[in-house]
Amino acid sequence: MVVSTISGSSPLSYSNGTTIPLSTFSSNSFVNVEKGDPVAFRSYWEKMREECTIEIKGDEWMSYFGDTNNLCWYMVPQMRDAILRLHDMVGNAVTKDKFLVLGTGSSQLYQALLYALSSLEPSDRPINVVAAAPYYSEYKDATDILQSRLFQWTGDAALYDKCEPYMEVVTSPNNPDGTLRVPVVNSGAKGKVIYDLAYYWPQYTPIIYEADHDVMLFTFSKCTGHAGSRIGWAFVTDIEVAKKMIRFVHLNSIGVSKESQIRAAKIIGVICDGYQNLKFIESDRLFFYYSKRLMKERWEKFKGAVEQSKVFTLTKYPTSYCHFNKDLSEQYPAFAWLKCVEGIEDGESYLEKLKIRTRGGKRFGVDTKYVRISMIGTDDEFIKLCTRLSNAKRE
Ligand code: PMP
Repeated sequence: MVVSTISGSSPLSYSNGTTIPLSTFSSNSFVNVEKGDPVAFRSYWEKMREECTIEIKGDEWMSYFGDTNNLCWYMVPQMRDAILRLHDMVGNAVTKDKFLVLGTGSSQLYQALLYALSSLEPSDRPINVVAAAPYYSEYKDATDILQSRLFQWTGDAALYDKCEPYMEVVTSPNNPDGTLRVPVVNSGAKGKVIYDLAYYWPQYTPIIYEADHDVMLFTFSKCTGHAGSRIGWAFVTDIEVAKKMIRFVHLNSIGVSKESQIRAAKIIGVICDGYQNLKFIESDRLFFYYSKRLMKERWEKFKGAVEQSKVFTLTKYPTSYCHFNKDLSEQYPAFAWLKCVEGIEDGESYLEKLKIRTRGGKRFGVDTKYVRISMIGTDDEFIKLCTRLSNAKRE
């Protein structure tokens, strides 16, 4: 019997005795699908809680250093080995002949990269940072907040026509719209590309090729859902870029928490051991099998609700062969990207009236007809979201 992975959430309970109730919905409360907090896979990790438990004694992991033989001196060998093992198993990135740089989330590494790539070739003007709209809403703010003389946010990559050096961020699958992407700048100027592959994991998209780019970003947050550990990593081919990034992380946070690294390494180890020890690839004990099934179920339910509402249209995704799962599959993105039908101009305000909180198109560099909805929140939020959406009728 196949048991649905979507169910009402039980309270969160922590080993220190704290419990947080999750079912706090009433008809008056908002369903908040504005943020991308990846808590959807919690019931899987609840089942695996014993296997994933680590113990850190009072005298352990006290040093700033993790491995003085590694260029990335604050990364512990267990973390490095786990990351390489995971990519080797999933087949989503070429890691050979690349430098691995660890960060406190990939958000920190995004800024480290802006610094590294722009300071290697000094110019008298700030380098333009662009991404094709709709782009991940945080890039603009994460770039602007530094008020750097080295780089500046310039907006939509598709509109870039300056004959000045640039850096293009390519997010694939994309946040917010889930599409698979390639660079789009066509200005003839000299440019560097940052590939943000935060969602290039089998639960969201078929693994269609082994990504092999000069600069690639990944995050533990969206891979397993453990965003709270704040672990991200980059693969870069140029040692000078890697050195500059490591210097940035040094000055920004003097490395990355060893407790987080040890925990992330353990969790990744549990995922990989599962695949090595189990004969059947179709088992709910296997993380990517479970998480993909959950995303698929949510998308099917969600599409039904959108169709019933007749207020929005959804992005269409192709079916491709997944080299990891060895099957043909659709994409099940972490976010849904909705467009209002004719006559409705502001999707965010429309949904706000239905007590659904979303993030509107403007934040992503497009118009207000679009909204982004998180598909990776709690089960309770998701169920409520579908009910409210399917009851939406045109005014
Ligand atoms: N890139 C993309 C495209 C994201 O969606 C996110 C998280 N929302 C990040 C990077 C940052 O992830 P983190 O800092 O948690 O590693």
